[in-house]
Amino acid sequence: MKPGNAKPLDPAQVRPDFPVLSRQVHGKPLVYLDSANTGQKPRVVIDAVEGYFSRFNANVARAVHQLGEEATSAYEGARDTLTAFLGARHRDELVLTSGTTMAINLVAYSYALPRLKPGDSILVTTMEHHANIVPWQLVAERTGATLKVAPINESGELIVDRFIEMLTPDVKLAGFTHVSNVLGTINPVRQLARACRERGIASLVDGSQAAPHLPLDVQSIGCDFYVITGHKMAGPTGTGVLWARPEHLEAMPPFFGGGDMIRKVSFDGTTFADPPHKFEAGTPNIAGFVGLGAAATYLSGLGMDRIAATEQALLDYATEALQQVPGLRIVGQAAHKAAVISFLIDGVQSHDLATMLDLEGVAVRSGHHCAHPLMDFYGVPSTARASLAFYNTREEVDRLVAAILKVCKLLR
Ligand code: PMP
Repeated sequence: MKPGNAKPLDPAQVRPDFPVLSRQVHGKPLVYLDSANTGQKPRVVIDAVEGYFSRFNANVARAVHQLGEEATSAYEGARDTLTAFLGARHRDELVLTSGTTMAINLVAYSYALPRLKPGDSILVTTMEHHANIVPWQLVAERTGATLKVAPINESGELIVDRFIEMLTPDVKLAGFTHVSNVLGTINPVRQLARACRERGIASLVDGSQAAPHLPLDVQSIGCDFYVITGHKMAGPTGTGVLWARPEHLEAMPPFFGGGDMIRKVSFDGTTFADPPHKFEAGTPNIAGFVGLGAAATYLSGLGMDRIAATEQALLDYATEALQQVPGLRIVGQAAHKAAVISFLIDGVQSHDLATMLDLEGVAVRSGHHCAHPLMDFYGVPSTARASLAFYNTREEVDRLVAAILKVCKLLR
């Protein structure tokens, strides 16, 4: 999925939208290169959250008063905005969750658990985040099903032929990431979802790292479930979306019980609201979704194609620049990548590197990135990771490289 010919954004125009980017860290201007961990928030998102609390704080769905109506309309308005952002057919196909982790668990417990039996399998890939591994292990354990793993190559690309060969009749669901949070690899999700569909296998795409970087269209991807998390796409933490085909949401039993998800409760039994409300028990993160709606509007306003083009150019620049650092090896060299660069430097611990870079004002992540199996594949305990966003600049990449050269001298 290449960004095509979209015109890159001018960072000088978008950076002022993000108040935090102008702060100093340890006396140096902040260089924030940890957007795959959580993205920075533009002023419009901060204002939307503030506006909810200061002007129309009320619970949704239950109040008939003016504030309640305003809160409900802002919260449900976010569902509309996110429907368009994902390219979904109808707003009722979106379950609002606390994030990707919650969304995948919802599918695991509500869709997979009742269907799986001994001898069945779930297929994932080596490059999955723990959020797309552990829920499947938990339901596999309870049902006697097995987890199978489709391999990747040294460049960090899924071996697509193997993935397709592994879609045998015992496989009931395949879960794969759209973009790897460690390698940046963009998986050919349309092709993978089609292969699943042709075999009657449900597919779940983890879009956590795709939503901030790529134009999305769940209908053309053709999967059964697509999940995103708000905090990586300029929105608040504690927000996310499960998009699902309506026939699945109809058939799935509720996962959580409580208020707002029912039609009628009596001690003889309860009937449930229609999807998506059947899956949204309790008071939701109203402020968070007001913010996420504003975030999706902001990103769409900039243009996801332009965001992708901007980041692609920055990725190329950063890859080239980092490759000049003596002893540095980039982990993840897929042909199709989003702006995530994991790397190792000979003789330098990733954690020490990230700690020292912080003192230079440069924020990168180090660790296993919630992807132990992927670290095992590469035979390393951790990597350093610089993850870029459209608000980063070439000058910041230069600052990263200069800081690496400086701290490596001290660490070796
Ligand atoms: N999947 C991927 C690919 C991720 O990068 C992350 C967040 N690091 C998650 C899942 C988990 O998402 P959440 O923060 O919503 O729990």
